[in-house]
Amino acid sequence: MSDKIKRQRRTKIVATIGPASSTPEVLETLFTAGVDVFRLNFSHGEHADHAERIRMIRELEARTGRPIAILADVQGPKLRVGRFAEGRVTLIAGQPFRLDLDETPGDSHRVRLPHPEIIAAAEPGSHLLLDDGKLRLRITSKGDTHLDTEVVTGGPLSDRKGVNVPDVVLPIPALTDKDRRDMAFALEHGVEYIGLSFVQRVEDVREAREIAAGRAWIMTKVEKPQALEDLEQIITLSDAVMVARGDLGVELPPEEVPLVQKRIVRLARQLGRPVVVATQMLESMISAPAPTRAEASDVATAVFDGADAVMLSAETAAGQYPVEAVEIMNRIVARVERDSGWQNQMRASRPAPEADTADAIAAATAQVATTVGARAIVAYTLSGKTALRIARERPECPVLGLSGTLSAARRMAVVWGVHAMGVAGHNAAETMGDVVRQAARSAREETFAEAGELIVVAAGVPFGKAGTTNTLRVATVE
Ligand code: ATP
Ligand code: MG
Ligand code: MG
Repeated sequence: MSDKIKRQRRTKIVATIGPASSTPEVLETLFTAGVDVFRLNFSHGEHADHAERIRMIRELEARTGRPIAILADVQGPKLRVGRFAEGRVTLIAGQPFRLDLDETPGDSHRVRLPHPEIIAAAEPGSHLLLDDGKLRLRITSKGDTHLDTEVVTGGPLSDRKGVNVPDVVLPIPALTDKDRRDMAFALEHGVEYIGLSFVQRVEDVREAREIAAGRAWIMTKVEKPQALEDLEQIITLSDAVMVARGDLGVELPPEEVPLVQKRIVRLARQLGRPVVVATQMLESMISAPAPTRAEASDVATAVFDGADAVMLSAETAAGQYPVEAVEIMNRIVARVERDSGWQNQMRASRPAPEADTADAIAAATAQVATTVGARAIVAYTLSGKTALRIARERPECPVLGLSGTLSAARRMAVVWGVHAMGVAGHNAAETMGDVVRQAARSAREETFAEAGELIVVAAGVPFGKAGTTNTLRVATVE
């Protein structure tokens, strides 16, 4: 793969990988088709599998020369059924189905529910929702170690699908022991983002931050109604946010989900935190080669909202058409972004800058770039923060993020409009002249600008120290 990979869109694509996508060949095809960030879901699979996938992604990155971010999604206190002897069963409305503590693999009459506390707390008459709410069971009676239910809404049910009990309040900690083990593993393997599930309070984020200690950025998944009460503080303390509509859509009535999605995206953009819209975006493509019209519209809506990234879950992890799903998503995003209505929308929805130097420079950078018709903004960024503040402006030209470390460049893979690279010699730049020369060279090498064309460079001086973006320069590429 010798040609330089450059995406023809600003909104990024996150893809979950699993059994359908875990060979070097498929990963490479997914990446070429448009994946910017790979997500590993620690709810599924063993550490050895995840380690192998991380190794393959890093190899792919080395082959392609493009920084790729890895998001390790830790399960949180999610309830799940156990496994089935055949991997899956079909539940039929009106039939009985038992949930118990027995470790024997399940069948169409029963399955394990390894959560004695739910069995204790649940009462006859309550409902259990399975697989992001697709199936519904009503509890008819209970014993010490089982719940007997009647299937209200049937359908296929496979290994380790999620269980929600909206009627029952459960005493659950934010990070389970498994989450701590999974986080330690993910941090040891150097992932860029930890996806934090079922955050309810600011303290949940704080706890994860302490464990990560700067080694990875925290992407908070908003999927509990409780989190909405403290949303601003939660997002402020997070490095990134995910609108996790799977569980959110079970815990909230469906008519609330679109509004909550818009609210989270707006607030995250306001606060300058990357925001990912996730779950069921192209759900029908798990088993069909083309999406529904509604799904295409859903992706387009997230792009119009100005989300940093859209995400695929089962479509790429376990579906029959993982590559097609990425291709279609890429096409929908790119098409929307060519529309003048979208460009106007990005301009109209630009949040006001915060009253500090970094934001003043970021806003000016975007404006100057438009005024002079620059081919690219080059953000000279140590930690990635300068690139983030510029991306927050949703500028009209592409942003080239030059970072001193590969890990910072990888983190930018999720950020709207940023084409990031780690550059050797970044830390050796001493004068603004050095920085501008390096910026111009990279802009030319990455085919953003040709000789004679303009770029706008934003940087923080002195160099080599993470801090405030305070300098802006218009330069001609030589
Ligand atoms: P979450 O609530 O964290 O999204 P989920 O069960 O919905 O959990 P997704 O990551 O959304 O999981 O993926 C959708 C489906 O894809 C899963 O339910 C599972 O069937 C399958 N899947 C994902 N990752 C894996 C994996 N590593 N191994 C096996 N199956 C996987
Ligand atoms: Mg989850
Ligand atoms: Mg999911």
